[in-house]
Amino acid sequence: MTAWVTVGTSLEDSRKAIELAGQYENLYAAVGIHPHDAKAADSRALEELRGLARQEKVVAIGETGLDFHYNFSQQPDQKRVFEAHLEIAREIGLPAVIHSREAFDETMEILDRCGGGLKGVVFHCFSGSAEQAHMVLDRGYFVSFTGVVTFKNAEVTRQAAQAVPLDRLMIETDCPYMSPEPVRSRKPNEPALMLHTAQFLAQLKGIGVDALAAATTQTATDFFGLSEPEMP
Ligand SMILES: [Zn+2]
Repeated sequence: MTAWVTVGTSLEDSRKAIELAGQYENLYAAVGIHPHDAKAADSRALEELRGLARQEKVVAIGETGLDFHYNFSQQPDQKRVFEAHLEIAREIGLPAVIHSREAFDETMEILDRCGGGLKGVVFHCFSGSAEQAHMVLDRGYFVSFTGVVTFKNAEVTRQAAQAVPLDRLMIETDCPYMSPEPVRSRKPNEPALMLHTAQFLAQLKGIGVDALAAATTQTATDFFGLSEPEMP
């Protein structure tokens, strides 16, 4: 099957994601408030998110997590909102899409403390080390790679990708960011360019691109609980 999950990063984005998912059979939505905007996520906003999460075709909560690179929101706010997202995910029975940047230890601490009973967890746009990937895998979580894995200076991320078995590995765009090589400097990212990431990862793992595509599709389909389209 062919399907996409479009990911929200704010209430407005999340509403748009749901609206789009309603228009296309194979498009699904994730809803969340990005850690960058955690400062604005008061109890009313989180209540609205809870409502959006219950809508049809919403298959995950996210992006949620911690970003200590930019610190656009204070760290206590980021932690509060991350924990609230995990609570909503557990309550509704949806997996969580995690954004973690320069905050790996703190992200794991919150997941260890608040992540029990979650349907699933995926670290999106993973750029950590193989050791960190193992810590994620040990907890039964999943790892998703973007065009970053193709970047010349991303040897650490490549070692992480080697460490992740295909039944725990997904690929994504993170578009419009993270365009893969060889088009990195030429084009904003879009789903069509994910072929470059897939080809690169297939070569890294020593398998054909079709095998990699089939495996990552199966992993993502199971993780997000995407239903097979009905036969006409
Ligand atoms: Zn992200």
